[in-house]
Amino acid sequence: MKYLDEYRDPVLARKLVAEIHRVVTRPWTLMEVCGGQTHTIVKQGIDEALPAGVRMIHGPGCPVCVTPLEQVDKALAIAVRPDVVFTSYGDMLRVPGSTTDLLALKARGADVRIVYSPLDALRIAVANPDRQVVFFAVGFETTAPANAMAVAEAARRGVDNFSVLVSHVLVPPAMTALLESPNNQVQAFLAAGHVCAVMGWTEYEPIAARYHVPIIVTGFEPLDLLEGILMAVRQLEEGRAEVENQYARAVRREGVPLAQRQIFEVFEVGERKWRGVGEIPRSGYRLRDPYARFDAERRFDVGEIRTNEHPACVAGAILTGEKVPLDCTAYGTLCSPQRPLGAPMVSSEGTCAAFYAAGRGLGVTRTPLPVTPLVQVASLPARGAEGTP
Ligand code: SF4
Repeated sequence: MKYLDEYRDPVLARKLVAEIHRVVTRPWTLMEVCGGQTHTIVKQGIDEALPAGVRMIHGPGCPVCVTPLEQVDKALAIAVRPDVVFTSYGDMLRVPGSTTDLLALKARGADVRIVYSPLDALRIAVANPDRQVVFFAVGFETTAPANAMAVAEAARRGVDNFSVLVSHVLVPPAMTALLESPNNQVQAFLAAGHVCAVMGWTEYEPIAARYHVPIIVTGFEPLDLLEGILMAVRQLEEGRAEVENQYARAVRREGVPLAQRQIFEVFEVGERKWRGVGEIPRSGYRLRDPYARFDAERRFDVGEIRTNEHPACVAGAILTGEKVPLDCTAYGTLCSPQRPLGAPMVSSEGTCAAFYAAGRGLGVTRTPLPVTPLVQVASLPARGAEGTP
């Protein structure tokens, strides 16, 4: 398949692995930011093919996983209202709230619908003027332009029965919070290529300089990740700390200014809580005042939200790279994709789901770096249009 097969070539993959082994002289710890990258690394066994002492830890870049429990509970409180059509990307439907999830509400009769774009939700609002239509606006900078466009379009057309429940999070503040943590282990980042495709990488330059940490803008295919790792370990070995772009076929330094203008017409930067991590200053988007009437949190009084995480779930430590799923006592026993206890097992980008799909710790015999689909232990939601990018 053009544009995919050439980034999965096993001969080139082994050459890149050999070059990484040649370059590395010391132990290093790298973090890939994005859950899509985590899935490729774990599925292909890329981490297991690296030199001893070079460790990949898996970052917080799964937007579904870091959506705070309070927001999930608010979504549930809004979705049960008889006057509401609640719309969302498919991967939010099984994320456990304190007591239930959106899919269970749907089964009990709530009008919860999967959409493939916020503009689909807007179309539902136009077609149903007597109903309140709410879209769950979750995601990193990648989903923000489309969500901003839907709100701007609702304002332009006067669609007053449309609103958004916003839970947008931003990558650079999360990287900064990780680097400032007393438990930080990260010495280099593989930044998320799709986020940088929208935002560029100028925001990462001060982080690289201040914390002396190499940041490689990296794609999602096996060769992308191996080349990103090679660029990172080269910098570490040479004592450099710069932003470099591995994903040159998709990312420019300035990103896409048109998309950024759309975001900042509708959103402004504000505080945001991350599930399992806590509040990170200036780490999310909220609606600007001229668009506040489209804010579902203002439109619906959901009362006091008391959250209740499952006591066995260590998702916070997973999302900050302090633990891996195999450290969780519930992994593969109490918690599986069929019966998830926490968001990292639900989402198509979650680290726990990535480990489970690759059979890690489940007694499945694996070969590192086959650069082809490996085992399919679990039946996971399909990636792509129905997931949160
Ligand atoms: S395996 Fe399940 S319970 Fe354990 S951290 Fe992951 S999501 Fe939470």
